[in-house]
Parts: sequence; structure tokens; C-alpha cells
Amino acid sequence: MESVNIAPPPHIRQIIDSFFKFIDTEIVPLEKENKKLLDDETKMYDDKYYLRKEVQELRKYARKKSAKAGFLNMFVPENLGGMGLGPLTSVYVNIALHSKYGPGRPLITPGKGLLVTPLIAGFVDGPSQVISDLDEDLKKSYLPLLLSGEKTMCFALSEPEAGSDIWSLKTRAERRGNKWVINGLKQWITNGPYADFCVVFAVTDTELLKAKKGGITTFFVEKERGWKVDAIIPYMGHCGSDTGILSFENVEVPEDHVIGDVNFGFTKAMLGIDIGRLAIGAICAGLSEWALKESIEYSKQRKAFGQTISEYQAIQFMLADSYIDTYTSQTLAIHCGWKAENSDTPPVKEISAVKAYCVEACQRVFDRAIQIFGGMGLTNELRFQDGFRLARTYRIPDGTSEIQRRTIARRLLKGDTSII
Ligand SMILES: Cc1cc2nc3c(=O)[nH]c(=O)nc-3n(C[C@H](O)[C@H](O)[C@H](O)COP(=O)(O)OP(=O)(O)OC[C@H]3O[C@@H](n4cnc5c(N)ncnc54)[C@H](O)[C@@H]3O)c2cc1C
Repeated sequence: MESVNIAPPPHIRQIIDSFFKFIDTEIVPLEKENKKLLDDETKMYDDKYYLRKEVQELRKYARKKSAKAGFLNMFVPENLGGMGLGPLTSVYVNIALHSKYGPGRPLITPGKGLLVTPLIAGFVDGPSQVISDLDEDLKKSYLPLLLSGEKTMCFALSEPEAGSDIWSLKTRAERRGNKWVINGLKQWITNGPYADFCVVFAVTDTELLKAKKGGITTFFVEKERGWKVDAIIPYMGHCGSDTGILSFENVEVPEDHVIGDVNFGFTKAMLGIDIGRLAIGAICAGLSEWALKESIEYSKQRKAFGQTISEYQAIQFMLADSYIDTYTSQTLAIHCGWKAENSDTPPVKEISAVKAYCVEACQRVFDRAIQIFGGMGLTNELRFQDGFRLARTYRIPDGTSEIQRRTIARRLLKGDTSII
């Protein structure tokens, strides 16, 4: 029997290598030049928790550079003008990116309260399968702006009273003549405060919604149509964030701004969320590797009581446990990416397993890394606290850890008991 080789195949390795080359030549120097601004959160955000204009401009510059170099739209479907690389490549790229560059680098990897990586368009800030059915004229007008990195989007599903439970949505869209009028409040919307376009989910049929059979419609809404950013929500001790509260007050959109079928937006929402879950899992699987490698190196250098701390079994066991967490995270994510790539429908149970496992494992690995580094582990400079906070944060969006387990259990009990 041939051995199972889960190292990236040569064509994916090539993509990763050229992406690294681009980052090292174009983005790392930019981060270095702007270190004072980007390393200090009190300078990155203004008093209303917004990213300062200079930081927004730097992110836009990085995004546009990435678009030009051919990386921003790697995972954007081909019918939207992207490269259409699939979930397996996405898993490999995310693992490689985050294991090399670590957390907390605002232009490269998430951290510092930023969940969006400017270099790769994701479903929360760029074109994805969620908007595949967008009206052709709207595609012609807006896709070039999104693909060039000039403009960004957001994905507005959650509300103050509807997070895990999508069937509790309160935002309504009412048909008036040949227009739809949207009213409601959206909360926790990543990139919402900076987005030019919003994909918003609203209730259009309360009976279908009550029966959990539909009743939610997806709309594409330009900023000029009047949705507002009510506030930014800073979280996990950050001085600001890119997550906001958006309000829709009698926001009118024409009929052609409906994406897909009226009343059947739920599947569109889940399409986006599945992409997000797998990406978060892979990001965490990569970050775990970064933290483990840092821990190994430090343990071999740091001396206490006359010998390196790597000599102590207490430290060795932490390294071993972090390896177990990292190894299982990466194999799980890669296998699931392969399954997603080769299935007609997303492997929902497996994606939930990846999201729950890799995020929780990553938090454990960062916690151990902080312990191994002692006091140094707590400093802002070494970025372990960025990774720890990010992993902790990731247990909530795109379905909490409990919702992932609920999804897995429901699938198992419905007869989907396949393991691999
Ligand atoms: C940083 C961040 C970014 C986000 N970005 C976006 C975005 O871009 N777009 C968007 O639409 N949303 C976004 N969200 C919202 C996110 O998807 C929700 O926060 C998440 O779904 C949880 O909803 P909630 O916060 O209302 O918690 P709740 O749903 O109120 O859950 C509270 C607790 O109850 C548990 N719980 C709920 N139901 C069950 C159940 N059936 N069984 C067991 N336990 C249960 C949960 O696991 C949790 O522990 C973001 C959130 C965060 C924190």
C-alpha cells in the first residue's frame, strides 16, 4: 500500500512559496516601516474604536498589492472572477501562512482585534459563493472593485437577539412595489464598519420562518443606500476592532439586489459559514505550529537551576501535548479540506469537528507556550497573548464550540456515522 502523504502537493507548495515571497518582499517591509503604528493598539485605533485612517490605508494598500500579485482572490469562485482554488488549497495555505508568520500582524495574519486578513479575501469581506447568484449587471459594476481590493464587503447575519439561533432574526424586508425595504439591527459584523457593500439576511416570510422552513432572503446592499454603522465593538481587551453594529432604517433596494431565491437565503448563509469554519480551523492549526516551534526553541535556550528548562519533564510534557494538539489539528483540517474538495455537498459534520477542535487545541497550545516562556510569555512583544486571545475569540464566531458539537451530534444521530 502506498503511504498516505499529507504534505502539500507540489502545485500547492508552489502557491505557498510564491505567496511567502510576495509577503517577504512587499508586506513585511511595510509592517517594519510602520511598526510604531501597527504594534501599538493605542495608536492603531481612534477614540471611537475605529482603525485610524492611516491603518485603514495601509490595509487597503496591502490588499491591492495582494490583488495585483494574484493572491487576494485565490479562493474567490471563478464565476466571480477569482482563481477558484478549492477548500484543500485554502487549508494548506492558511496552515502555512499562520505557522510561518504567527499571530498579531495586522497586515498579514489576524490578531490585535482584527479577524480579517487583508491579503486573502474571505466570505466576511470579499466575494464568495454567497454572492454567486448576484444579478449579472451588479456583478459587472461591483466585482472589479472588489477583486482589485479597492472595495470590501461584509456578511450581516447575526443580531442582538439572534446569534446561534438564526430562526430568531428580527430584521425584516418588505416588498413595496418593485422595491424591498429593509429594517433591523445587525450585530458583530466583521468588517462592517469599513465595508462598502453588505450582504444582509432579512426575514421576508414569518410563517416559513416560524416553521423553520425558510423565510430568510439574502440582499446585496451598497453603503450609499443608507445603512449605518452605529458602533464598533471592542473585545478581548483590545483598544478597537473591525466588528460593528449596523442599522438598517427603511433602507430601500431594487428587486435585482436579491441574491438567489426569495425566502431561501438560509442555505446562502450556511455556505459562507462553512467556508469560515474551515478557514478558522486551518488558521488555528497553523498558529499552533508557530507557538509550538517557538516553545521548543525557547525551552532549549532558557536555563533554570543550572540546566535548560527542556531538561525538565514538566516542560517536555507540555511540548509533547502541544505537538499532539498541533498534529491532530493539521491532519484533521487537511483531511477535511480534501473531503470538502471532493464532495458535492460540504462535509458539515467534519467541518464542525475541525472548527471546534483546532480552535480549542490552539488555545491550549498558546496557553502552554505562555507557561513555557514564563514572564516573557505574557509580554505583548512576543505575541503569544495575541494568539491566545485570538483562539479564545474564535470559539464564538461562525458557530460556537457548543453549536459545532450540536451539529456533529445531530448528524451522527441522523445516521451520518462515517468517521473518515
Ligand atoms: C469577533 C466576532 C466576529 C463575528 N463576525 C460576524 C460576522 O461577520 N457576521 C455575522 O453575521 N456574525 C458575526 N459574529 C456573530 C457570531 O456568529 C455569533 O456571536 C455566534 O453565532 C454566537 O451567537 P451569540 O453571540 O448571540 O451567542 P448565543 O447564541 O446567545 O449563545 C450564548 C451561549 O449559549 C450557547 N448556546 C446557544 N444555543 C445553544 C444550543 N442549542 N445548545 C447548546 N448551547 C447553546 C452558545 O454556545 C453560547 O455559549 C461574530 C462574532 C464575533 C464574536
